[in-house]
Amino acid sequence: MSEHTLEVMKCTHEKQKPDPDSLVFGTVFTDHMFIMDYSEEKGWYSPRIIPYQPLTLDPASMVFHYGQTVFEGLKAYRSKEDGTIRLFRPDMNIKRLNRSSERLTIPPVDEEQLLSYLKELLIIDKKWIPEKEGTSLYIRPFIISTEPNLSVAPSQSYKLMVILSPVGAYYKEGMSPVSILVEERYTRAAPGGTGTAKTAGNYSSAYKAQERATAKQKAQVLWLDASEKKYVEEVGSMNVFFKINGEIVTPKLNDSILDGVTRNSVIQVLKDWGLTVKEQQVEIEEIFRAHRDGILEEVFGTGTAAVISPVGQLEWNDENITIHHNKTGPLAQKLYNYLTDLHVGKEEDRFGWIVEIDND
Ligand SMILES: *Cc1c(COP(=O)(O)O)cnc(C)c1O
Repeated sequence: MSEHTLEVMKCTHEKQKPDPDSLVFGTVFTDHMFIMDYSEEKGWYSPRIIPYQPLTLDPASMVFHYGQTVFEGLKAYRSKEDGTIRLFRPDMNIKRLNRSSERLTIPPVDEEQLLSYLKELLIIDKKWIPEKEGTSLYIRPFIISTEPNLSVAPSQSYKLMVILSPVGAYYKEGMSPVSILVEERYTRAAPGGTGTAKTAGNYSSAYKAQERATAKQKAQVLWLDASEKKYVEEVGSMNVFFKINGEIVTPKLNDSILDGVTRNSVIQVLKDWGLTVKEQQVEIEEIFRAHRDGILEEVFGTGTAAVISPVGQLEWNDENITIHHNKTGPLAQKLYNYLTDLHVGKEEDRFGWIVEIDND
């Protein structure tokens, strides 16, 4: 067998599937996983689907010491009606994986090949894709540096893995807005840093800010730019949108904002609906001013996990504002319904975003 042919080793015993109503995000994994290796001589080699299992790694593996690692997050959906497995713009996630890797000096993968491996894995574990409304199978591709070496330098070996986790409905009792603390001390990402890459260090370094937000009864933080603490960047690990006086505004991408697939899709959908969408620098002061002027209509975050997450309250400099009476706004609701219907094939795929997987 060539070093690039996918090898499949199925498990002998299937695990019990969880009740879709009691799933806690990211805690249950399917029967199989995908793994392949990289070495300087062979490139990416030995792609294989194997039973889900622990790894054995040298304690000197570079990932444990210097965090040279990247990840992705996307979902597979399956509707009761036709049982088809659907992915939402997986090409965008795989491209972003390579962009993240580029920033972390990790070698790129062949995008089409990785998508084909992912499809094979989904077909093998298709029974794990829950069908209940709002549920999905979360897909976590990631790459770790494995060279056993404490030198501060890029690793010469890597492992790319894909694990799958069934997730319950994000909103069990309809969409509900969250309270947000505008973070003024810590930063998520700085100019020239790694903010545009999905790399572990960006997330663990945000826990401290999250801790402060939680202590203030807030669900998430809103990140401002690192240099001036003046411009809005993101909310938690989501991109952020504002509806002000009938127009939609979202921070324009820079090298400290993550280029979200949901963000990109929402912009296209809103424009298609005939709304004005401005990608520009957004001052936090301008948002609070719009609220005082009575023209701040809606605020919401976008990301794969929640799809759309309405913001009901914002606290900045000890000033608290309530948006849309702390209720989900009509635009956030309409976008959520549109995108979630698109995911399961209830809405026509006019943008060509859905990748269906054959699984006879
Ligand atoms: C993943 C992520 C997002 C959302 O990206 P999607 O592709 O829409 O899921 C936004 N911000 C950060 C920091 C992220 O890590």
